[in-house]
Amino acid sequence: MADDRAERIAEFIEPLRVAPGSEVHLARDFDPGYKAGVRKKKDGEELLRSGTELLADYQRRLAAQDTYGVLVCLQALDAGGKDGTIRHVMSGVNPQGVRVTAFKVPSAEELDHDYLWRYARHMPARGEIGIFNRSHYEEVLVVRVHPENLRRQKLPAAARKGDVWERRYREINDWERYLTDNGFRIVKLFLNMSKEEQRIRFLKRIDVPERNWKFSSADVRERARWDDYQWAFSHMLSATSTEWAPWYVLPADHKWFTRICAAAVLAHTLIDIDPRYPQVSDESRKQLAEAGRELEREAPKGAAADPYAASVPGSGKGGGGKRKHSGGRGKRSGKKG
Ligand code: AMP
Ligand code: MG
Repeated sequence: MADDRAERIAEFIEPLRVAPGSEVHLARDFDPGYKAGVRKKKDGEELLRSGTELLADYQRRLAAQDTYGVLVCLQALDAGGKDGTIRHVMSGVNPQGVRVTAFKVPSAEELDHDYLWRYARHMPARGEIGIFNRSHYEEVLVVRVHPENLRRQKLPAAARKGDVWERRYREINDWERYLTDNGFRIVKLFLNMSKEEQRIRFLKRIDVPERNWKFSSADVRERARWDDYQWAFSHMLSATSTEWAPWYVLPADHKWFTRICAAAVLAHTLIDIDPRYPQVSDESRKQLAEAGRELEREAPKGAAADPYAASVPGSGKGGGGKRKHSGGRGKRSGKKG
């Protein structure tokens, strides 16, 4: 059953993956309106729900195992749906295991360091899922489209010479490889929205008072650079989709479909990591059993010795039976049959 699900998820996300080494032309290769045959939002709801349930389960195991961390990088143009994707996809997971960082225009302190510094500072720990709302990829997107950003970075002359962008792609790939080798998996999602859909979403932000705060005049200025951004995205996707950290281009004209895709790619990564609850050693199992017997002896008169076990059907302890030496206590392994 579980394998079947893993296979279906892998098949579902395959068309979204940028093959390492391939040359991407966004407009030619990826359709922002693609829905993979899921016709209506309603049909997608069940899919998203099962996806978020699966994520919640895997996140508990990831945290318990405390060996791997997962970093999700979200990139999109304004109104591409990053915030809503985070809200919906992570709706079922324990907030303690997730940290979201939004990256804005770099501060003076950040500009006083190498360009990857501020991203490294916000990496998730082992056992955590980190989400970057915008990421180190801004360093080859907004910084490339608006070179004045590069001038603000106080780089020495040698670092501004030659092909800065090719060098940055390589440095980013190397950094991600280093992280992957150390147990941090990187999930890269580009939310690919059409220009017309952005126009509609901007108008909604202007028309609906509760959405006004989401709109800034800078958004219109950036929209004027639409083609430059598409070009920069295409180059970035071509140069930085690697075997260890591939890009996924998510169709973003239908928000509900984007969310299903994001949940599926993240689920795929977690299934691949396959985190397990730590195994309890025989020695600890004995200690657990002994502690359990001690607690049972403390039961007040008339109370069940172990109300929890008594409430679990098939525990062999209905009505508060005797604890066997081997003890059935302790978390079962997360391994699914
Ligand atoms: P928002 O996500 O709408 O709150 O806007 C954040 C702004 O910060 C966007 O306009 C980004 O382009 C900008 N930004 C993010 N990272 C960088 C960076 N490294 N250099 C310059 N601008 C950036
Ligand atoms: Mg904005």
